[in-house]
Amino acid sequence: MANPTRRYRAALLTPTDAGELLFLPDAVLEVDPQGRIASISDYQREPHAHGLLQDLRGHLIVPGFVDTHLHVPQTRVIGSAAGPLLEWLDSTVFPEEARFADTDYAAQVAHQFLDCCGSVGTTTFMAFATSHPAATERTFEICVERGFRATLGLTLMDQNCPPALRLASDVALQSSRELAQRFHGAADGLIRFAVTPRFALSCSRPLLEGAAKLSEELQLPIQTHISENAREGVETLIEHPYAADYLGVYEAVGLLTSRTILAHAIHLTASEWERLAASGAAIAHCPDSNAFLGSGKFNLGKALAHGIRTGLGSDVAAGRSFDLRRASSHAFDTAREVGVDVSAAALFERATLEGARALGLADKVGSLEPGKDADFVVLSTKVPQLDQHVAVRLAGFGAELAPVARTYVRGRLVFDARSSF
Ligand SMILES: [Zn+2]
Repeated sequence: MANPTRRYRAALLTPTDAGELLFLPDAVLEVDPQGRIASISDYQREPHAHGLLQDLRGHLIVPGFVDTHLHVPQTRVIGSAAGPLLEWLDSTVFPEEARFADTDYAAQVAHQFLDCCGSVGTTTFMAFATSHPAATERTFEICVERGFRATLGLTLMDQNCPPALRLASDVALQSSRELAQRFHGAADGLIRFAVTPRFALSCSRPLLEGAAKLSEELQLPIQTHISENAREGVETLIEHPYAADYLGVYEAVGLLTSRTILAHAIHLTASEWERLAASGAAIAHCPDSNAFLGSGKFNLGKALAHGIRTGLGSDVAAGRSFDLRRASSHAFDTAREVGVDVSAAALFERATLEGARALGLADKVGSLEPGKDADFVVLSTKVPQLDQHVAVRLAGFGAELAPVARTYVRGRLVFDARSSF
């Protein structure tokens, strides 16, 4: 049975498609039976026009956060990154991912992963699974069951990885096709399948080319990593000598498209910035991960100057927190360090609407506007006077002063702090 129309009274802060920030200290958010936003109004202007509503005064409603890059199977090794990328993959990540040969273990971790997403207000994410088709299938099923807006993919690796994680090119591509056919567009469009080469180093050229063809044929999004670590860049060009630079590998095999999201993009040359911009691909900026692994500092100013869609990613588990407000804080610091001016408001927008744009989902989510899906977070504000300035700081950075009380995806409650312990 469809839900009835629901109305929530609280303060509300959202970026808008028109490029403005909307703040209403006493708003009514109306959600229709299909889970879409029917209207947003000012309670004070029409105090008697709203019928039954949930009184959430003392709370701030914001759009659900959009995490453009993280790894489901790394949930339990969060905080373990202790060194350069390639060493950490060998010592910690690959042994943990190998445990996903056990599908029950994968299911436990998938639930824990979604608990973490919900608890920090992440409603939409683009994530890597492992290279195990059965575990990936189970992870998709759990995302459907739990109601999150998930873009997921089977991680492609046919070289430079432990045998337990290696999946032959033909098997990997056939499994990807089958998973895409079953899950891309599932749950009435909440779920998408992404073609997911881990990175160029872990994939042979035929696998990369096959992945590009599959994405083109089924019009699937693509996620991978680029230029995270200096040594990774050098080894990539040894492995793929036909390319003049890192981006050139993805260009040559057909993976650089407007459906592509590239994580990190730290060590790009001027030419790579130009070509990336021309391709229409997007970037997932993961500042906490970059700091924790010592990978380098992403230059947000260059991405913006080139007009490249850029979202924020927690990159769990190289990132130490699922919380995109923590990623925003790190993005602020990183921008300062490379001489780029940013504000809490701009980073709040990046963690929501810009992230949705990066993932090609801004027609449905990213801001609270009539017609969009009701993906929103209710923050419990502990400050007596909530004006726009304070609301922006709480939504942008202030996790402790404004913890997540509830998280909704398409109008459905997917996390409730009252029942999570
Ligand atoms: Zn990553």
